[in-house]
Amino acid sequence: MTKTSVAHRALAGTTFAALVAASFSVPALAAAPVAAPTTAEATEALDLAMKAIAIRSVRGEGNRAADVAALFRDRLVAGGWAPSDVVITPMHDTAMLVATWVGTDPKLKPLVLSGHMDVVEAKRADWQRDPFGPVVEDGVLYGRGATDMKFDGSMLLSSLVDLRRHGYRPRRTIVLAFSGDEETVMATSAVLADKLKGAEAVINADGGGGTFADGTDKPLYWMWDGAEKSYADYKLEVTNPGGHSSEPRPDNAIVQLAEAVIKVGKYQFPPEQNAITKAWFTRAAAFEADPAKAAAMRAFAANPADAKALAVLRAEPSMVGKTGTTCVPTMLSGGHALNALPQRADANVNCRIFPGHSRAEIAAQLEKVIGSPVVKVSDVTEGSIDSPASPMRADVVGALEKAIHAAWGSAVTVIPSQASGASDSMFYRSIGVPAYNASPVFTRSDESFSHGLNERVRTVNVKPALTYYFNLIPDLTR
Ligand SMILES: [Zn+2]
Repeated sequence: MTKTSVAHRALAGTTFAALVAASFSVPALAAAPVAAPTTAEATEALDLAMKAIAIRSVRGEGNRAADVAALFRDRLVAGGWAPSDVVITPMHDTAMLVATWVGTDPKLKPLVLSGHMDVVEAKRADWQRDPFGPVVEDGVLYGRGATDMKFDGSMLLSSLVDLRRHGYRPRRTIVLAFSGDEETVMATSAVLADKLKGAEAVINADGGGGTFADGTDKPLYWMWDGAEKSYADYKLEVTNPGGHSSEPRPDNAIVQLAEAVIKVGKYQFPPEQNAITKAWFTRAAAFEADPAKAAAMRAFAANPADAKALAVLRAEPSMVGKTGTTCVPTMLSGGHALNALPQRADANVNCRIFPGHSRAEIAAQLEKVIGSPVVKVSDVTEGSIDSPASPMRADVVGALEKAIHAAWGSAVTVIPSQASGASDSMFYRSIGVPAYNASPVFTRSDESFSHGLNERVRTVNVKPALTYYFNLIPDLTR
């Protein structure tokens, strides 16, 4: 997962009103945290993150994801988990970890705390430092997984250990579920969600997150993701009998395909909005430096049919995806010889589907837009699944806001968000378990290197991250 951000302008925070009935124990929201993190706990948590980063858990030969799982298991067992409550399951070249902290009330559905242990490939020659040799320099931890997401996973896991040490006993069972191939094929992700389908909700430490004011450690705003668009690829294909190019026929596969591609390229799906994107436009507008764009964001939030506002937002690459489904041609091929009529031409159309629509529905719409029976549209998507937006549950939203304000101060604006990429949460949402991607980690907007070179995280995040979980986890499980 990568973090999203908006261009900023400072402003004070606000709080959401209760929206729907709650299943988590709302009176608990007024409760004090179990403890405040100590310096020793912060040191231990950072040490765990560095040990995890040092283990190369990249898909393919030499994948050491199982060793990350073993590191985490050992930390949990040393912290009081029964060895039988921490299960590592190998799968393909990776592994998944499920650690259970049994609550005192078996009637309550478990809370799942989600993350992943694998990282994107990183080559030593491309990096300024060894990507698997974590190092802290001037308050910055460098290494593959510093932002996505071994630092996050280590803060989450450490806070559980600390809560247990401080004598916390959850009423609701807590399940820590770490996948091992989130960055690639997501096979363990799908298995975990299916296994945990009876959960009350999922808090995913992967995704969401906060933004510091440029060049400072001053928190500006923080986002949690409650929805993500689904990914789809469609193949457009035209086949013809072909023939000699000196004898052209009216039906030419390349021309027919080109006409279809142009229609798809010009087509815009209808504007859409859900509770989460409406809240995003409303709140993120305060951080938009360009007044015309900020006005368009507010106008669209008030009325998604506002054509003028829509035109402004759809001209902005960072915002167009939040206004509805998008489809764009990404690859093209055709023909087999310079002097032959093409027998075949095809194109790939990549779509990011707004939650609430199936891939089949979008394929049917593309066929309608193309309007030509000779263009065959087929769904060639791999590794994605349709998932609805999670509800803005007052209990979860309230607990998230309280926790982030306890960690970073009450001036931080909280912005609900819909992600464009895929995370483990889509598997939970697809089977009806609400999932919230809500990393407490803040990043400067010029230091977001998730999946890229020289990935890093500011160590000023350690104590606030622990504080966040010390508030959030008890509020959702006591
Ligand atoms: Zn991730």
